[in-house]
Amino acid sequence: MDVASIVTMRLDALVAAKSRTLSFEFFPPKSDRGWHTLEDTIDQLVPLGPDFVSVTYGAGGGTRAKTREIVEHIQAKTGISAMAHLTCVNATKAELRALLDEYAGAGITNLLALRGDPPKGETRFTPTDGGCAHASDLIDLIRADGRFAIACAAFPEKHPDAPDRLSDWGHLVEKFSKGASAAITQCFFEATPYRELVTWLEGRLGRRPRVIPGILPITNWKSLTRFAAICQATIPDGLRSAIEPLGDDAVAVRKAGLRWTIALCRQLLADGAPGLHIYCLNHSTAAAEVVTALRTLGELD
Ligand SMILES: Cc1cc2nc3c(=O)[nH]c(=O)nc-3n(C[C@H](O)[C@H](O)[C@H](O)COP(=O)(O)OP(=O)(O)OC[C@H]3O[C@@H](n4cnc5c(N)ncnc54)[C@H](O)[C@@H]3O)c2cc1C
Repeated sequence: MDVASIVTMRLDALVAAKSRTLSFEFFPPKSDRGWHTLEDTIDQLVPLGPDFVSVTYGAGGGTRAKTREIVEHIQAKTGISAMAHLTCVNATKAELRALLDEYAGAGITNLLALRGDPPKGETRFTPTDGGCAHASDLIDLIRADGRFAIACAAFPEKHPDAPDRLSDWGHLVEKFSKGASAAITQCFFEATPYRELVTWLEGRLGRRPRVIPGILPITNWKSLTRFAAICQATIPDGLRSAIEPLGDDAVAVRKAGLRWTIALCRQLLADGAPGLHIYCLNHSTAAAEVVTALRTLGELD
């Protein structure tokens, strides 16, 4: 398909048109085998009718070309809007503007504007000379370009660098005020922090902004604890006591983990969450199970 002929929906139009969206997140694979797995995953998940998908951007900006390639490929192959993640890491504003030209030329219209994490081996984020220091600066740059709809990141339990939740959430307000149409959250495992974030934002903005919960399906205890430690996400006592006694019984752990994930999604949707963004980790089965269960229960369109 010719890139020029692809008409994908912009996120701003999508959130105006739909009260709930379903989306999946992928990352650029590192090997040929990984590419095949991702292709299979896309084939399995497309029939579930996601409103959009997103593709991450490697720490340090190392996967820049791959992110664009995958987004372009998904849009050409499936016609589904794919959102490219973009970070401020290792790029001047001039380089970021050039990248926007490249993205626009590739038919990309949706960007998730992020600060990015420090490159491997570094513990603190250091802005590039002539670059953007915060995601909000990147939002300004993209907004000035004018060709893209913009999403940003949100942290129900606060961003790890932030001194407290309210100062972090204050910076999220800035990102909405500067032009983000929606935020996608870091993963979390109980509804309360999400509910508190949305209620607080509503009080500050005088409207309920679009904060899409990022959902990590729980299938493996070791991976979950590793991931939660990286994201500084709390593992609730109830989840721990549902899973730890199951020990090495991988099937039982997976079943209990997905049961927890589905219950969390039901709670979030009942509380008014504007859809779900599922961290697939490039595999389809758990994401498909969660979506199918929610649809069977009538909780998701
Ligand atoms: C949905 C999602 C997808 C992600 N995808 C990727 C990806 O593809 N690639 C990748 O490398 N990383 C990704 N990340 C991780 C993200 O880049 C990191 O968490 C990063 O450390 C913070 O990014 P941010 O956009 O929230 O930054 P910011 O909004 O800039 O916030 C970073 C920190 O600075 C503070 N802050 C913000 N603005 C200001 C200001 N004006 N003055 C002072 N302090 C401020 C915030 O409170 C926070 O503590 C993703 C995260 C999420 C939630």
